[in-house]
Amino acid sequence: MIDHPRIPLAGVIGSPVAHSRSPVLHGHWLRRHGIAGHYIPMDVAQSDLRQVLSALPRAGFVGCNVTIPHKESVLGLADMVTDRAALIGAANTLIFRKDGRIHADNTDGYGFIANLRQSVPDWAPARGPAAVLGAGGAARAVIASLLEVGAPEIRIANRTRARAEALRSEFGAKIIVHDWVQAGNMLEGAVTVVNTTALGMVGKPDFRVPLDALSPQAVVSDLVYTPLRTRFLDEAAEIGCATVDGLGMLLHQAAPAFERWFGVRPEVDQATRDAVLAA
Ligand code: NAP
Repeated sequence: MIDHPRIPLAGVIGSPVAHSRSPVLHGHWLRRHGIAGHYIPMDVAQSDLRQVLSALPRAGFVGCNVTIPHKESVLGLADMVTDRAALIGAANTLIFRKDGRIHADNTDGYGFIANLRQSVPDWAPARGPAAVLGAGGAARAVIASLLEVGAPEIRIANRTRARAEALRSEFGAKIIVHDWVQAGNMLEGAVTVVNTTALGMVGKPDFRVPLDALSPQAVVSDLVYTPLRTRFLDEAAEIGCATVDGLGMLLHQAAPAFERWFGVRPEVDQATRDAVLAA
């Protein structure tokens, strides 16, 4: 039995993970708080997931992040799943408890809301409809969190309409599904507009939804953060909207996980952004 103090370890499990900014982010916070811990990327195949998860706590890991393609399957391997992770149908954060149990949570929705609140302090999501482009994993977290902060109606358009319809069945009557080809129309009167598709990301096609119906009062957010300023955000800013990039969501979703693993709540500030952008 090991009874001496161990260096706390955490990391991100996915495949691929080489592109992840999380090691730089958590490394920055570990240094800032003088914590003698480490956070590493771990490329794990689906077939090895169960075995890796059971071995990590024994090697000194206090938890880990989970990314594509394991976000859904870890729910079945965890001993406890938070309500929000169950609602979203995916986990991004695992906590390895001292009693040996694995706790699964999803902080993506929290990160999305915290980022908008920090970037646009007078954002009032309950004041009108939200329009969400996309219906993938990130959209689920965004929709769950928008409902939680009181969005009265959430309009969704997705290239594959069936995925948007599935979200309506799960999240209920506040969800209104629109055709992808008419996505521009659903922006009218929306107070919150979010791109959760991969469009506009480096290596993906451009985001080409017409923004003529967008009100200058809308708060517009893009989950894509490579590049940081997407064409969608630039066009919305030209209309006069407050715009919020996706990097802040990545930073904010990580803060509660860092706190659970290492015992300190890290601040998301300009120095944090700069550290991640410089990497
Ligand atoms: P996902 O589950 O694979 O969903 C991808 C979404 O993009 C789907 O709605 C998909 O539509 C749509 N899409 C992809 N290619 C398209 C195209 N050519 N035309 C129209 N729609 C297209 O992925 P995800 O996990 O939700 O991630 C989506 C984006 O959010 C990614 O760029 C990811 O990097 C970003 N993200 C950012 C954060 C953050 O912290 N900022 C967190 C999570 C995700 P179909 O259903 O029709 O395929």
